[in-house]
Amino acid sequence: MLKLYNSLTSKIEPFKPIHENLITMYVCGPTVYGDIHLGNARPVIFFDVAKRYFKYLGYDVQFVSNITDVDDKIIDKAKELKLKESELTDLYTKNFIDMTLALGSLLPDLMPKATDFVPQMVKYIEELIEEGYAYVRPSGVYFRVAKVADYGVLSKQNIDELNQGVRITLDDEKEDPRDFSVWKTTDDGLKFKSPWGDGRPGWHTECAVMNHEIFGSEIDIHGGGSDLKFPHHENEMAQTVVHDHHHLARVWMHVGRLDVNNEKMSKSIGNISLVKDLLTAYDPYAFRLLMVGHHYRQPINYSDDLMVQFAKEYDKIERALKKAFLTMSLEEVMRPMALKSYMDQFEDHMNDDFNIPNVMTLVYELVKLLNKEKDPKMLGDIYQTIKEILEVLGIMPIYKMTEATLNLYREWEQARSNKDFIRADQLRSELTERGWM
Ligand SMILES: [Zn+2]
Repeated sequence: MLKLYNSLTSKIEPFKPIHENLITMYVCGPTVYGDIHLGNARPVIFFDVAKRYFKYLGYDVQFVSNITDVDDKIIDKAKELKLKESELTDLYTKNFIDMTLALGSLLPDLMPKATDFVPQMVKYIEELIEEGYAYVRPSGVYFRVAKVADYGVLSKQNIDELNQGVRITLDDEKEDPRDFSVWKTTDDGLKFKSPWGDGRPGWHTECAVMNHEIFGSEIDIHGGGSDLKFPHHENEMAQTVVHDHHHLARVWMHVGRLDVNNEKMSKSIGNISLVKDLLTAYDPYAFRLLMVGHHYRQPINYSDDLMVQFAKEYDKIERALKKAFLTMSLEEVMRPMALKSYMDQFEDHMNDDFNIPNVMTLVYELVKLLNKEKDPKMLGDIYQTIKEILEVLGIMPIYKMTEATLNLYREWEQARSNKDFIRADQLRSELTERGWM
């Protein structure tokens, strides 16, 4: 049985989806004002693997991940680059999609843009005001945190500490320093009409409203980076509870952060590593291997040395698979079957809150067996086992073998056994050109 760590309860719990055969999941997506970096890539890879595993288990999955395309950072960057906000967000939405695919992840089933839901957000905020959960001030509309009984339950924030800890901004207008903006009135940059003046929705409201509009009821999994737990997820949840009268999600999943050389990635330190730069130097599957080689809740301390280490690991796996594939093609191994005992172990590890590091230990064991196996039928079965596991992790290379290449290979073997070294060399370079030597 699948068990997942739920950030809401701080426990590993048996996972039972709300619908019998369907898993609904929403993962907070990027604010599109720059190229995606390695930290952004981590949830993109992890939740892709989660979806693939749910499909492997036989579920249908509805995976929604939003695009935040209205934000102060977007407005500032658009000004700096002398672009319209939509030109900037189109550019970086494209980068996000391109990089998601380049990293070997499938696109979510739906990628709603915040700006496509503004009328619904305005209506939602009007309803919050009517019910007494939000109030209007000249600078915008604020959510009344004091009216939510268990506010802080997700992020385990102590309310008194929160009261003291919240940064004092516009507090002369807020009833309570914890109250957050659901609508910001402004005449600067991208703005929309509302009963409270021109402005734009608050980020926490965007996600709450898109969930409400798309799913209309409680979902199975709400996910994102661990840095989103507070205030973003706490505030999304607070709005859903009072507006929609149900919980936002049964399970909250948070992916650990990614540091670079022991430091948090930040513009001021200048240590932002971009996915597009990484992919000029490394195979995307090697990077995926690094990501899934660490448990999703643990932080990753990324470094060039670590990347090189995982690139070597991936290379070992890839070489073993390719060699086996060639042998299977030459020996015409038909319909290989994954080994049940290994697939059972794979499922046990995955069911244990996605213990993929243990899955990788299993894969390395299988690769050793693959390298040693002489019997073609057994070789095929081991290959198939690794293939089915790596497909769930999204790191299985695709090999294609043509009859012509196979014939070349056979000819090469023949030339060698005939000691016709000149011919063998010619054939070898042809095979190298085709990537099979
Ligand atoms: Zn969100």
